[in-house]
Amino acid sequence: MSIITKSIQICLAIFIFSASSLANEVNLYSGRHYDSDEKLYAKFTEQTGIKVNVISGKGKALMQQIITEGASSPADLFITVDAGNLWKAQKEGLFHTITSSAVDNIVPANLRGPNNEWVALAKRARIMYYNPRTVSEAELEGLTYEDLAKPEWNGRVVIRKSSNMYNQSLVSSLVANHGVEATEAWANGIVANMARKPEGNDRAQIMAVANGEADIAVANSYYIALMLSGKKGDEQQVAANKVVPYFPGQDGRGTHINISGVGLLKNGPNKGNGVKLIEFLLSEEAQNHIVNNSFEYPLLDSVSPHPLIAQFGTDFKQDQTPVSAYGEFNPDAVKLMERAGW
Ligand code: FE
Repeated sequence: MSIITKSIQICLAIFIFSASSLANEVNLYSGRHYDSDEKLYAKFTEQTGIKVNVISGKGKALMQQIITEGASSPADLFITVDAGNLWKAQKEGLFHTITSSAVDNIVPANLRGPNNEWVALAKRARIMYYNPRTVSEAELEGLTYEDLAKPEWNGRVVIRKSSNMYNQSLVSSLVANHGVEATEAWANGIVANMARKPEGNDRAQIMAVANGEADIAVANSYYIALMLSGKKGDEQQVAANKVVPYFPGQDGRGTHINISGVGLLKNGPNKGNGVKLIEFLLSEEAQNHIVNNSFEYPLLDSVSPHPLIAQFGTDFKQDQTPVSAYGEFNPDAVKLMERAGW
């Protein structure tokens, strides 16, 4: 073998090696990002040799970016909150089936999208918060979302606008279980029972109950822990101590569950690495990290939620309505809420 042939072979080997190491990465577009996530991804890289490139932003903007980038999009994974948003991305044709027995074993079928194109990474409950000075034990007995539309709650309920995806998903779940007509009658009752015109975010509803503006609020579970943590300031911490979380539907379907989740992107150049990262995000180590930052509920029984949320109980009955129904019935839910003047 001549020196020239030999050096060509070495050059070729170096080229192939650098090309493969260049490709040994995964591109994550994340609508939910915490500073400490860097440490988590570093652990993934340590275990697999796969580098994680993160682009973080608002879920809606990231989805638009993925659509605009089209076939040349470098994004392998899209992480966002609410099954309704993941459903929308799937409807845009952005996703690809996630083929992984590990993922199938960990994530229950009701917390995955059609064709396994997206899956839950964490769970959140849409619960109620009541004022213990104005709501009686008897009123709480067996309380459901459906009950909040009854006359005894007149002028006592706060819940945010119908444009909010969390509400759209809750109402979609009611459409899935009761149909449009019954859910519209319910929405009319809710609007009639509102203590004020819907305004503000989920934490603002909890604040309204703490301030005595309303007796009961609907808001996501993790917000009470976020407020209690003091991360949102003293005023919200004090307010959080004045309300009591309540898990509706315990004698019936259970409490409404939504997800933070991830979809595998069709045009991603590193889909295999994407699946590996999803598997990692469902590992005990990553699940601990995720729920300790977000105050959500884990997918693994072996992982406990953060103590600030675990103190309210972790064995509550969870509604098993498939989260894909939140996307499927979203147009019905939006229209009926609009008709109800929500
Ligand atoms: Fe939220």
